[in-house]
Amino acid sequence: MALEPAPSYPHRRKPDGMFESVCLTCFATIATAKHESDLTEADKKHVCGSSLLSRRASLKPVRPN
Ligand SMILES: [Zn+2]
Repeated sequence: MALEPAPSYPHRRKPDGMFESVCLTCFATIATAKHESDLTEADKKHVCGSSLLSRRASLKPVRPN
């Protein structure tokens, strides 16, 4: 079984002491948490908005009129 590397997103600390996880693909803030370790779970659940959009676009039939 090949192990795919888990996507990792950069975490940064905000001036208010909270940690923020940011996706560099869709530029969305994935999560904000008091503890950096809490961001890891949110990172795993993140689905990129860009891939979601392309999936939605393929479902929509193009009807030139
Ligand atoms: Zn993303």
